[in-house]
Amino acid sequence: MSRVLVETDAFVAELDAAVEAHMDWSRRILRCAVLHSTPGEDVLDPMAHTLCRFGAWFCANRGTFEALDAASAQRLEAVHQAMHDAIRALCTQVISGQPGRDGDLDAFETSQAELLKLLADYKTRILSSAVRDDPLTGLPLRYNVENDFVLCQKEARRNRSLLYVVMIDVDHFKPINDTYGHQAGDQVLRHVAHTLKQGVRGGEPLYRFGGEEFLWLLKCKSPEEARKSARRILAAVGTTPVPIDDGETLRLTITLGLAQVGEMEDLSSAIRRADLALYQGKQDGRNRYVIADAP
Ligand code: GH3
Ligand code: MG
Ligand code: MG
Repeated sequence: MSRVLVETDAFVAELDAAVEAHMDWSRRILRCAVLHSTPGEDVLDPMAHTLCRFGAWFCANRGTFEALDAASAQRLEAVHQAMHDAIRALCTQVISGQPGRDGDLDAFETSQAELLKLLADYKTRILSSAVRDDPLTGLPLRYNVENDFVLCQKEARRNRSLLYVVMIDVDHFKPINDTYGHQAGDQVLRHVAHTLKQGVRGGEPLYRFGGEEFLWLLKCKSPEEARKSARRILAAVGTTPVPIDDGETLRLTITLGLAQVGEMEDLSSAIRRADLALYQGKQDGRNRYVIADAP
Protein backbone atom coordinates (compact mmCIF):
# COMPACT_ATOMS: atom_id res chain seq x y z
CA MET A 1 0.00 0.00 0.00
CA SER A 2 1.29 3.52 -0.75
CA ARG A 3 2.67 5.80 1.94
CA VAL A 4 -0.18 8.31 1.53
CA LEU A 5 -2.87 5.64 1.87
CA VAL A 6 -1.18 4.24 4.98
CA GLU A 7 -1.08 7.77 6.39
CA THR A 8 -4.75 8.30 5.50
CA ASP A 9 -5.73 5.08 7.26
CA ALA A 10 -3.71 6.00 10.34
CA PHE A 11 -5.15 9.51 10.45
CA VAL A 12 -8.73 8.29 10.14
CA ALA A 13 -8.10 5.69 12.89
CA GLU A 14 -6.71 8.42 15.16
CA LEU A 15 -9.67 10.65 14.37
CA ASP A 16 -12.06 7.82 15.31
CA ALA A 17 -10.12 7.23 18.54
CA ALA A 18 -10.25 10.93 19.41
CA VAL A 19 -14.02 10.99 18.89
CA GLU A 20 -14.35 7.85 21.03
CA ALA A 21 -12.25 9.51 23.77
CA HIS A 22 -14.57 12.47 23.58
CA MET A 23 -17.61 10.20 24.04
CA ASP A 24 -15.96 8.60 27.13
CA TRP A 25 -15.43 12.05 28.48
CA SER A 26 -19.12 12.89 27.85
CA ARG A 27 -20.10 9.82 29.88
CA ARG A 28 -18.11 11.20 32.84
CA ILE A 29 -20.19 14.37 32.62
CA LEU A 30 -23.40 12.36 32.64
CA ARG A 31 -22.27 10.59 35.82
CA CYS A 32 -21.55 13.97 37.39
CA ALA A 33 -25.04 15.21 36.48
CA VAL A 34 -26.82 12.08 37.72
CA LEU A 35 -24.69 11.14 40.74
CA HIS A 36 -23.49 14.64 41.65
CA SER A 37 -19.94 13.29 41.76
CA THR A 38 -17.00 15.41 40.63
CA PRO A 39 -16.18 14.84 36.94
CA GLY A 40 -12.44 15.37 37.62
CA GLU A 41 -10.12 18.36 37.76
CA ASP A 42 -9.39 18.30 34.03
CA VAL A 43 -13.07 18.94 33.24
CA LEU A 44 -13.23 21.87 35.65
CA ASP A 45 -9.94 23.40 34.54
CA PRO A 46 -10.41 26.68 32.57
CA MET A 47 -8.03 25.20 29.95
CA ALA A 48 -10.03 21.94 29.78
CA HIS A 49 -10.24 22.20 25.98
CA THR A 50 -6.47 21.77 25.75
CA LEU A 51 -6.29 18.98 28.35
CA CYS A 52 -8.80 16.50 26.96
CA ARG A 53 -7.44 13.82 24.63
CA PHE A 54 -9.24 15.19 21.63
CA GLY A 55 -7.91 18.71 22.27
CA ALA A 56 -4.32 17.46 22.55
CA TRP A 57 -4.65 15.38 19.38
CA PHE A 58 -6.26 18.23 17.47
CA CYS A 59 -3.43 20.57 18.51
CA ALA A 60 -0.82 18.10 17.29
CA ASN A 61 -2.62 17.63 13.96
CA ARG A 62 -3.82 21.15 13.40
CA GLY A 63 -1.74 21.54 10.24
CA THR A 64 -3.50 18.60 8.58
CA PHE A 65 -6.93 20.02 9.44
CA GLU A 66 -5.93 23.47 8.20
CA ALA A 67 -4.55 22.12 4.94
CA LEU A 68 -7.88 20.42 4.29
CA ASP A 69 -10.05 23.41 5.22
CA ALA A 70 -8.70 26.31 7.26
CA ALA A 71 -12.10 27.86 8.07
CA SER A 72 -13.51 24.57 9.38
CA ALA A 73 -10.37 24.00 11.48
CA GLN A 74 -10.89 27.36 13.14
CA ARG A 75 -14.57 26.59 13.69
CA LEU A 76 -13.69 23.18 15.14
CA GLU A 77 -11.39 24.77 17.69
CA ALA A 78 -14.03 27.35 18.63
CA VAL A 79 -16.91 24.89 19.10
CA HIS A 80 -14.68 22.50 21.03
CA GLN A 81 -13.77 25.27 23.45
CA ALA A 82 -17.42 26.43 23.66
CA MET A 83 -18.44 22.87 24.53
CA HIS A 84 -15.88 22.65 27.34
CA ASP A 85 -16.90 26.05 28.69
CA ALA A 86 -20.57 24.98 28.79
CA ILE A 87 -19.72 21.72 30.50
CA ARG A 88 -17.54 23.39 33.10
CA ALA A 89 -20.39 25.79 33.91
CA LEU A 90 -22.88 22.90 34.17
CA CYS A 91 -20.66 20.72 36.37
CA THR A 92 -19.74 23.60 38.64
CA GLN A 93 -23.44 24.24 39.28
CA VAL A 94 -24.24 20.58 39.86
CA ILE A 95 -21.43 19.79 42.28
CA SER A 96 -22.23 22.91 44.31
CA GLY A 97 -25.75 21.53 44.75
CA GLN A 98 -27.45 23.90 42.26
CA PRO A 99 -29.51 22.69 39.29
CA GLY A 100 -27.75 23.08 35.96
CA ARG A 101 -28.82 26.01 33.76
CA ASP A 102 -30.85 25.53 30.57
CA GLY A 103 -28.58 27.84 28.60
CA ASP A 104 -25.45 25.89 29.52
CA LEU A 105 -27.07 22.60 28.55
CA ASP A 106 -28.24 24.07 25.23
CA ALA A 107 -24.77 25.44 24.56
CA PHE A 108 -23.26 22.03 25.35
CA GLU A 109 -25.68 20.18 23.09
CA THR A 110 -25.32 22.55 20.13
CA SER A 111 -21.56 22.76 20.32
CA GLN A 112 -21.17 19.01 20.71
CA ALA A 113 -23.46 18.36 17.73
CA GLU A 114 -21.50 20.83 15.59
CA LEU A 115 -18.17 19.35 16.71
CA LEU A 116 -19.24 15.84 15.72
CA LYS A 117 -20.64 17.08 12.40
CA LEU A 118 -17.40 18.94 11.54
CA LEU A 119 -15.36 15.84 12.36
CA ALA A 120 -17.62 13.60 10.28
CA ASP A 121 -17.23 16.05 7.34
CA TYR A 122 -13.45 15.97 7.69
CA LYS A 123 -13.50 12.19 7.70
CA THR A 124 -15.60 12.08 4.51
CA ARG A 125 -13.28 14.57 2.87
CA ILE A 126 -10.12 12.66 3.82
CA LEU A 127 -11.52 9.34 2.64
CA SER A 128 -12.90 10.67 -0.63
CA SER A 129 -9.70 12.53 -1.48
CA ALA A 130 -7.77 9.27 -0.90
CA VAL A 131 -9.92 7.73 -3.65
CA ARG A 132 -9.97 10.79 -5.95
CA ASP A 133 -6.31 11.74 -5.87
CA ASP A 134 -3.22 9.87 -6.94
CA PRO A 135 -1.33 8.89 -3.79
CA LEU A 136 2.05 9.14 -5.52
CA THR A 137 1.85 12.63 -7.02
CA GLY A 138 -1.13 14.15 -5.19
CA LEU A 139 -2.69 15.04 -8.57
CA PRO A 140 -6.32 14.13 -9.22
CA LEU A 141 -6.81 10.89 -11.09
CA ARG A 142 -8.38 10.57 -14.54
CA TYR A 143 -11.81 9.65 -13.10
CA ASN A 144 -12.35 13.35 -12.41
CA VAL A 145 -11.64 14.53 -15.93
CA GLU A 146 -15.11 14.06 -17.43
CA ASN A 147 -16.91 16.60 -15.20
CA ASP A 148 -14.17 19.20 -15.42
CA PHE A 149 -13.99 18.77 -19.18
CA VAL A 150 -17.70 19.55 -19.60
CA LEU A 151 -17.37 22.63 -17.38
CA CYS A 152 -14.27 23.87 -19.21
CA GLN A 153 -15.95 23.32 -22.60
CA LYS A 154 -18.97 25.39 -21.49
CA GLU A 155 -16.67 28.09 -20.14
CA ALA A 156 -14.79 28.23 -23.47
CA ARG A 157 -18.08 28.55 -25.39
CA ARG A 158 -19.27 31.33 -23.08
CA ASN A 159 -15.98 33.26 -23.21
CA ARG A 160 -15.32 32.59 -26.90
CA SER A 161 -12.00 31.11 -25.87
CA LEU A 162 -10.29 27.82 -26.73
CA LEU A 163 -9.89 24.60 -24.82
CA TYR A 164 -7.18 22.03 -25.55
CA VAL A 165 -6.84 18.51 -24.24
CA VAL A 166 -3.13 17.93 -23.81
CA MET A 167 -1.62 14.48 -23.30
CA ILE A 168 1.83 14.61 -21.72
CA ASP A 169 4.16 11.63 -21.61
CA VAL A 170 7.61 11.45 -20.01
CA ASP A 171 10.27 10.51 -22.57
CA HIS A 172 12.38 7.39 -22.01
CA PHE A 173 10.97 6.82 -18.57
CA LYS A 174 11.32 3.04 -18.54
CA PRO A 175 15.16 3.17 -18.61
CA ILE A 176 15.03 5.31 -15.43
CA ASN A 177 13.21 2.52 -13.60
CA ASP A 178 15.53 -0.08 -15.13
CA THR A 179 18.71 1.80 -14.25
CA TYR A 180 17.93 3.43 -10.91
CA GLY A 181 15.07 1.31 -9.57
CA HIS A 182 11.34 1.77 -9.20
CA GLN A 183 11.69 4.05 -6.17
CA ALA A 184 13.81 6.52 -8.11
CA GLY A 185 11.19 6.25 -10.88
CA ASP A 186 8.51 7.19 -8.36
CA GLN A 187 10.59 10.12 -7.18
CA VAL A 188 10.95 11.30 -10.77
CA LEU A 189 7.18 11.07 -11.32
CA ARG A 190 6.52 13.13 -8.18
CA HIS A 191 9.02 15.71 -9.37
CA VAL A 192 7.57 15.89 -12.90
CA ALA A 193 4.05 16.22 -11.47
CA HIS A 194 5.22 19.08 -9.27
CA THR A 195 6.99 20.86 -12.15
CA LEU A 196 3.92 20.49 -14.37
CA LYS A 197 1.62 21.75 -11.64
CA GLN A 198 3.83 24.82 -11.20
CA GLY A 199 3.88 25.33 -14.96
CA VAL A 200 0.17 25.23 -15.78
CA ARG A 201 -1.96 28.25 -14.97
CA GLY A 202 -4.23 28.31 -11.92
CA GLY A 203 -7.68 27.09 -12.96
CA GLU A 204 -6.23 24.71 -15.56
CA PRO A 205 -6.86 21.15 -14.37
CA LEU A 206 -3.98 18.67 -14.49
CA TYR A 207 -4.41 14.95 -13.83
CA ARG A 208 -2.24 11.90 -13.55
CA PHE A 209 -3.74 9.98 -16.41
CA GLY A 210 -1.84 6.76 -15.71
CA GLY A 211 1.77 5.51 -15.57
CA GLU A 212 4.01 8.37 -16.70
CA GLU A 213 1.22 10.15 -18.55
CA PHE A 214 -0.55 13.34 -17.53
CA LEU A 215 -3.58 15.11 -18.95
CA TRP A 216 -3.86 18.87 -18.96
CA LEU A 217 -6.93 20.98 -19.85
CA LEU A 218 -5.34 24.05 -21.40
CA LYS A 219 -7.42 27.24 -21.68
CA CYS A 220 -6.35 29.99 -24.05
CA LYS A 221 -7.49 32.69 -26.47
CA SER A 222 -5.68 31.60 -29.63
CA PRO A 223 -3.75 28.71 -31.17
CA GLU A 224 -0.59 30.83 -30.85
CA GLU A 225 -1.17 31.13 -27.09
CA ALA A 226 -1.62 27.34 -26.88
CA ARG A 227 1.72 26.82 -28.64
CA LYS A 228 3.36 29.30 -26.27
CA SER A 229 1.96 27.44 -23.25
CA ALA A 230 3.19 24.11 -24.64
CA ARG A 231 6.68 25.56 -25.15
CA ARG A 232 6.62 26.93 -21.59
CA ILE A 233 5.81 23.49 -20.13
CA LEU A 234 8.46 21.78 -22.27
CA ALA A 235 11.03 24.29 -21.05
CA ALA A 236 9.93 23.97 -17.40
CA VAL A 237 10.49 20.20 -17.39
CA GLY A 238 13.59 20.34 -19.60
CA THR A 239 15.35 22.88 -17.40
CA THR A 240 14.46 21.38 -14.01
CA PRO A 241 16.84 18.48 -13.30
CA VAL A 242 15.44 15.84 -10.94
CA PRO A 243 17.49 14.95 -7.86
CA ILE A 244 17.61 11.24 -7.13
CA ASP A 245 18.78 9.58 -3.96
CA ASP A 246 22.55 9.30 -4.34
CA GLY A 247 22.99 13.01 -5.04
CA GLU A 248 22.82 12.49 -8.80
CA THR A 249 20.43 14.53 -10.92
CA LEU A 250 18.61 13.44 -14.06
CA ARG A 251 17.61 15.56 -17.01
CA LEU A 252 14.19 14.76 -18.38
CA THR A 253 12.12 15.66 -21.36
CA ILE A 254 8.44 15.21 -22.16
CA THR A 255 6.36 15.04 -25.31
CA LEU A 256 2.98 16.74 -25.67
CA GLY A 257 0.00 16.04 -27.93
CA LEU A 258 -2.48 18.93 -28.14
CA ALA A 259 -6.03 18.65 -29.44
CA GLN A 260 -8.13 21.79 -29.76
CA VAL A 261 -11.56 20.71 -28.50
CA GLY A 262 -14.48 21.12 -30.92
CA GLU A 263 -17.56 22.95 -29.55
CA MET A 264 -19.60 19.75 -29.47
CA GLU A 265 -16.76 17.24 -29.25
CA ASP A 266 -16.74 14.74 -26.42
CA LEU A 267 -13.79 13.97 -24.16
CA SER A 268 -12.95 10.56 -25.58
CA SER A 269 -12.69 11.96 -29.11
CA ALA A 270 -10.42 14.81 -27.95
CA ILE A 271 -8.24 12.38 -25.99
CA ARG A 272 -7.96 10.11 -29.01
CA ARG A 273 -6.74 12.98 -31.17
CA ALA A 274 -4.34 14.26 -28.49
CA ASP A 275 -2.97 10.71 -28.15
CA LEU A 276 -2.36 10.45 -31.89
CA ALA A 277 -0.53 13.78 -31.82
CA LEU A 278 1.54 12.57 -28.87
CA TYR A 279 2.42 9.42 -30.77
CA GLN A 280 3.49 11.57 -33.72
CA GLY A 281 5.68 13.62 -31.36
CA LYS A 282 7.40 10.44 -30.14
CA GLN A 283 7.97 9.33 -33.74
CA ASP A 284 9.42 12.73 -34.63
CA GLY A 285 12.07 12.47 -31.90
CA ARG A 286 10.36 13.42 -28.56
CA ASN A 287 10.91 16.59 -26.44
CA ARG A 288 8.35 18.51 -28.51
CA TYR A 289 4.68 19.25 -28.91
CA VAL A 290 2.44 18.29 -31.80
CA ILE A 291 -0.94 19.82 -32.60
CA ALA A 292 -3.60 17.28 -33.58
CA ASP A 293 -5.61 17.46 -36.77
CA ALA A 294 -9.09 19.01 -36.46
CA PRO A 295 -11.88 16.59 -35.41
P1 GH3 B 1 8.68 6.82 -24.45
O1 GH3 B 1 9.74 7.86 -24.55
O2 GH3 B 1 8.32 6.25 -25.78
O3 GH3 B 1 7.47 7.36 -23.74
O4 GH3 B 1 9.27 5.63 -23.61
P2 GH3 B 1 9.01 5.28 -22.08
O5 GH3 B 1 10.16 4.45 -21.62
O6 GH3 B 1 8.75 6.51 -21.30
O7 GH3 B 1 7.64 4.53 -22.17
P3 GH3 B 1 7.15 3.09 -21.77
O8 GH3 B 1 5.66 3.16 -22.00
O9 GH3 B 1 7.93 2.04 -22.47
O10 GH3 B 1 7.45 2.97 -20.23
C1 GH3 B 1 6.66 3.52 -19.25
C2 GH3 B 1 7.14 2.93 -17.95
O11 GH3 B 1 6.51 3.58 -16.85
C3 GH3 B 1 6.82 1.46 -17.79
C4 GH3 B 1 6.27 1.33 -16.38
O12 GH3 B 1 6.95 0.33 -15.68
C5 GH3 B 1 6.56 2.67 -15.77
N1 GH3 B 1 5.59 3.09 -14.75
C6 GH3 B 1 4.26 3.23 -14.89
N2 GH3 B 1 3.72 3.67 -13.72
C7 GH3 B 1 4.74 3.80 -12.84
C8 GH3 B 1 4.83 4.21 -11.47
O13 GH3 B 1 3.84 4.57 -10.81
N3 GH3 B 1 6.06 4.25 -10.88
C9 GH3 B 1 7.18 3.88 -11.58
N4 GH3 B 1 8.35 3.94 -10.94
N5 GH3 B 1 7.13 3.47 -12.86
C10 GH3 B 1 5.94 3.44 -13.49
MG1 MG C 1 3.53 6.24 -21.69
MG1 MG D 1 6.98 7.61 -21.77
